[in-house]
Amino acid sequence: MKYHPQNSEPLDVAERLGKQQVVCYPVDSLPSADMECYQKARENLTLVDETIIPPRQAKTFSVPAGHFFRIVSIEGPQVGDLNLWHKNNLNERFYSGKTRALHGTHVSTSDRLWSSFPYLRPMATVTFDTLDWYGWDEDGGSVHDVIGTRCDPYIHMVLNNYNYHFCCHSNLCRALASYEKKSIDKIEHLIHDVLNVFMCTGFTKDTHQYFMKASPVRPSDFIEFFAEIDLLGALSACPGGDCSSSHSSDAAVCYPLKVEIYKPHQEALIDWSSPEVNSYSGEHGIK
Ligand SMILES: [Zn+2]
Repeated sequence: MKYHPQNSEPLDVAERLGKQQVVCYPVDSLPSADMECYQKARENLTLVDETIIPPRQAKTFSVPAGHFFRIVSIEGPQVGDLNLWHKNNLNERFYSGKTRALHGTHVSTSDRLWSSFPYLRPMATVTFDTLDWYGWDEDGGSVHDVIGTRCDPYIHMVLNNYNYHFCCHSNLCRALASYEKKSIDKIEHLIHDVLNVFMCTGFTKDTHQYFMKASPVRPSDFIEFFAEIDLLGALSACPGGDCSSSHSSDAAVCYPLKVEIYKPHQEALIDWSSPEVNSYSGEHGIK
């Protein structure tokens, strides 16, 4: 949203507005995901662990590098907020902004989830998405966005002036605090902007505001990832349910989500190696 303009158009308005778009980060030069390798590996998977995330709660889960994990819809339409960290270094965490800059506003098969500075490497690669048929709807909406942040009690207080304790931010805080066996004030800074799994979102065409609409997800739908590095994940079953009307309250009907961890046959990954951390020197112009 912008103010109604207070300044008239300059004389060379046509010249200034008529520029060509240039993609900021052409992804052609990115180290490409070896989808053939992943597709071969996922042909023979063994379920090794699973976690149920109750409504308006979050749970952590671990995924060894070279394993797959799925976030599965069960019981009813439900949106999930996903955080990811390097299992042994929680300072390396999912960077939704750079993932968005590289792959666009919504992710699907073959897109990668990138980690924060100074590590900046693929943490996970999307290897299957049962909602890939959705594409882009007539409002410009799609599923699995990296444009939202996570529902949180702070903006809820600003907008509504009362405490609500089961926003995804708080759910993720409780889950990580329990995993780390630390108080929330020691771990809250590690909670970060999420991948909004199954959430259907976009920007309104007139004001360019973030919108949501009822998720098209149905029980048995899933999005699947390949873990490029050892991962600790946390998933919150958003209090918005399918996010068709509201979030950050107990008003919406909510359902659980399931995380499944799969081990592939190791010979299928013979040509795969875990990506190294970013090779930038770290000097930042200081000798
Ligand atoms: Zn939420």
